[in-house]
This record gives sequence, C-alpha cells and structure tokens, in this order.
Amino acid sequence: MRTGMDYHIHTFYQRCGNWTMTVPAVIRKCEQCRLTSIAITDHLNHLGQLDAFHYIKRDIQDTATDLDVYFGVELNFQSCDGDFAYNEEIHEKLGFEVVIGGIHSTYTDSQNLREVLEIQHRHFMKTLENPLVDVLVHPFWFCRSEVAARSPEWWEKLIETLPDDYISAWAETSRRNHCAIELNVAAIFYYDALSERFKAHYVDFVQRLMEKGALFSVGSDAHDINWLGSTDYAEGLLAALRMPEEQVWRPSRHS
Ligand SMILES: [Zn+2]
Ligand SMILES: [Zn+2]
Repeated sequence: MRTGMDYHIHTFYQRCGNWTMTVPAVIRKCEQCRLTSIAITDHLNHLGQLDAFHYIKRDIQDTATDLDVYFGVELNFQSCDGDFAYNEEIHEKLGFEVVIGGIHSTYTDSQNLREVLEIQHRHFMKTLENPLVDVLVHPFWFCRSEVAARSPEWWEKLIETLPDDYISAWAETSRRNHCAIELNVAAIFYYDALSERFKAHYVDFVQRLMEKGALFSVGSDAHDINWLGSTDYAEGLLAALRMPEEQVWRPSRHS
C-alpha cells in the first residue's frame, strides 16, 4: 500500500495552525518525515476568511519540493442544517484541489444517543453527497467541552452501537460519490479527551465501513509542526485492517 500521505494540515495564515506552521516549514518537515503526498487544508468557516488562501496558494507554488503538495480547504457547517461557506464559484476561482469538510458540533444538549446520532447522520450525508467535497472529516470528533458534557461510557456506547443502516448509507454514499471518510490522527486516535475504549470501538466502526466499501483518507490535522508525520499511525491501521488498495482515496489534480 502506498504510504506517506497526509491530506489534512493547517497553517499559520488562518491562525488555525500555530506559528510553526508556515507553508515552507510544513513542506520541509513533511520531507523529513518521508511523506510523499500532502494537502494543506486550512479552515474556511465564513467568507471573510477567503483572503488568506491566496497566500497559502502562492507559498505552495513558490516552495520547491519533490513532494506532491495539493492546495486544499477544510469546510465547516455554518449552523445546524446550514451550509458550508463554499460554492462552485469559489471552488473554481481559488482552484482548490482537495476539499475536506464536515460537522464540528453536536448542535444539541441532548443525552439521547439516537437524537445526537441523527444530527450527525444528516450532516455526514449532506457532506458525502456534496459534489464539491472530497473527504468527510473526523466523524465523531467534538471539542473538549462537548465531550465533557457526556460520560465516557455514553460516548463509548454511541460508537459501539452505530446502527447498520447508517453505516451502510455512509459507506455506499462514500463509494458512489468517491468521497472518502477520514482517519484523523489528532482529532480521534491521539485525542486525549476520548477514552481508549472509545478508540477501540472506533476501529470496529472503520472496519464496518470498510466491509461495506467506503473509501478512506488519512490526515494528521496537524496544528503544530511536530504533529506532522503522525499519519503513519492511520496508515498502520489501514494495513492492519487489510484495507483494499482501491478503498484508499488519493487526490487528483484539475485537468
Ligand atoms: Zn475539523
Ligand atoms: Zn482540521
């Protein structure tokens, strides 16, 4: 299986990544970590954030490297059942090559598993069905305060009891639309707000998606230079699960 991929990296331009995350520094560090193919994907949460992408694109073009470096963006829903701050015009004008996106909140205080899951499901489907989006990011990541608002056991049960009909819908839509589901290192596997038991069930979740034909992408979600290279964990997981090569998503350039 091809290794050395990372399709989820932030930069200092959008103040998502810290000061270590300039484009040339990211590229040099990725070379040292023996990565071969990466996407720089800063947040676009609202249209006021568009300007920084011109600088990111310029810096990618100006940094000589043998790495495959894709110019990307990470989208977030602007509200529950709202839209991404994105459309065909922005896509073409900026020339984004990798578009990753997803839900970043539970959008509810409910402790009812089914209710919380239903909101996630709607947003996963909306993302997977969006023809402009290549990757559904970090399913079931939530910020620390949202994780802390429910017990570890509650989260473990959520991930352990995901219904088959949801798994089938996500996997089939992923495959049909060629939209990958992300294995995110910082937001899931190395995220200390989530229990080890949750992460063990998460691997089962990935396996269930795999068996139903979903595509997968790997991302570090690095916000600090020292997080680059951590996608070897996700690639190790793909190998351990014996992920078929054709289910490992890779970007393709605009023609
Ligand atoms: Zn995110
Ligand atoms: Zn991110």
